[in-house]
Amino acid sequence: MSARVVILGGGVSGLGMAWALAGQGVSVDVLEAEPIVGGLARTIRDDGYCLDLGPHSFFSEDEGVLRKVLALFDEPLEPSPRRVKFLYRGKYLDYPLTPRSVMQMGPGPGIRIAASALRQKLLPYRSPTMGTPVETVEDWAISSFGRHLFEEFFKPYTEQFWKVPCTELSSRSIPSNTRMSFTNTLRVLLSSATAEEDPSLVEREMLPTYYPRTGFGEVPERIAAAVRAAGGRVHVGCRALEVCGNGGGMRVVYERGGIREEMACTQVVSTIPLNALAAMLRPSPDPETLAAAQRLEYRALVVLGMVTQRQDILGCGYVYVLNRPYNRVSEMNEFSASTSPQGENTLSVEIPCFVGSPLWNAGAEEVFDLCSASLAADGLLLPGDVKRLLLARAPAAYPVYRKDYAEHLERVQGYLAQRNNVWSLGRCGELMYMDIDKCLARAFALAERILPALAVT
Ligand SMILES: Cc1cc2nc3c(=O)[nH]c(=O)nc-3n(C[C@H](O)[C@H](O)[C@H](O)COP(=O)(O)OP(=O)(O)OC[C@H]3O[C@@H](n4cnc5c(N)ncnc54)[C@H](O)[C@@H]3O)c2cc1C
Repeated sequence: MSARVVILGGGVSGLGMAWALAGQGVSVDVLEAEPIVGGLARTIRDDGYCLDLGPHSFFSEDEGVLRKVLALFDEPLEPSPRRVKFLYRGKYLDYPLTPRSVMQMGPGPGIRIAASALRQKLLPYRSPTMGTPVETVEDWAISSFGRHLFEEFFKPYTEQFWKVPCTELSSRSIPSNTRMSFTNTLRVLLSSATAEEDPSLVEREMLPTYYPRTGFGEVPERIAAAVRAAGGRVHVGCRALEVCGNGGGMRVVYERGGIREEMACTQVVSTIPLNALAAMLRPSPDPETLAAAQRLEYRALVVLGMVTQRQDILGCGYVYVLNRPYNRVSEMNEFSASTSPQGENTLSVEIPCFVGSPLWNAGAEEVFDLCSASLAADGLLLPGDVKRLLLARAPAAYPVYRKDYAEHLERVQGYLAQRNNVWSLGRCGELMYMDIDKCLARAFALAERILPALAVT
């Protein structure tokens, strides 16, 4: 048969791949399990209210990707600065942390952080796994910044988020931008370098951000329209079940509206969680590869939107919080006032959890009951302020970097590399924390890589 690529998942990575391939005249089909495209970057729309899975904004230092995304919009998107805060013991600090935010903590915490970091420099903490692939969050945070900042910030925030002890999580769980901001902060406090600095990461924090009028989901929705305009097909409500065969004769079995259907193809690009992909391969991978895949984990996300007439609640887009049932609060009108009817606004909270947990199964009212006392205590929203609730869920939002995850990932990736006809891409497909621009850049690069093989199939 002539070349035909089936892409599993209609998030930004899958759609980006389809966009690149369809633009080159390749026959391409995207299968998306949900009724709408966008994956983690989608917007739930309900009766004039728009809720992102945590409001996203688009930014990139990659001129090519930036231009391509902005060109999807007929009316130019206006750039705006990123405005994020961290609520620390009742005080709103700049975030990511800067020397200014340590000053905002007050003199006591700033002195304690600096003293503890200085002590770490003079009497270094050592652990046998430091600097190795199994270095834990605890090893990394204490050795980089001292015990005080570890116990005051890294431990509570990390364990609240992951529900896994810091001794079990790889230090890769701490996002690069957080590492850089802490490093810079301490450099100023101690007036000497504590670690190598990557200027590109620091500059990324300062990039202008873009947000579409009616929710971030407009970005994937417009990419899907571009795929269709180039002759590609995007099928929603189609859940892939099996990827069968090898070589030129492959087929993907999927379920649409309770009916099993199948689609023949020559290559498969998957952006779904890697453990789910491994389980649906026929013939099955060897038992060791399957076992490695099953040890890869993802954390789910529940987002509750609370519609209110109150405006200017946070004074910024997002606030990260400690010791609350949720880890981040956002205000949709800070991104675009067109995300709810005039005079209204939506405050949203993000709660990481595992699929199947009581929280994952909870209804909107129950989730609100869990959060309402904290929202009121922080002066954000009283129960009487809320006129409507919206709930969104994502089963695989955060790849979990347990300290041994890299060896399992390598095993599965090694197996796929041998097959040469199934490619795993994207945040959950590669277990890689990426922003939207990186998802697109990696999708475009993979498309370039497999195009020659498609021409000769
Ligand atoms: C809370 C939060 C906030 C973020 N904020 C930003 C931000 O402001 N800016 C930014 O640039 N990035 C942000 N990101 C990162 C960004 O959302 C992700 O990197 C990006 O959306 C990942 O896209 P993806 O296509 O790789 O994966 P996903 O979006 O996970 O797409 C995978 C798709 O596969 C589908 N799927 C799963 N199983 C099957 C199956 N069996 N059959 C068919 N389909 C299936 C899923 O429904 C999903 O649509 C944020 C992420 C989170 C979690």
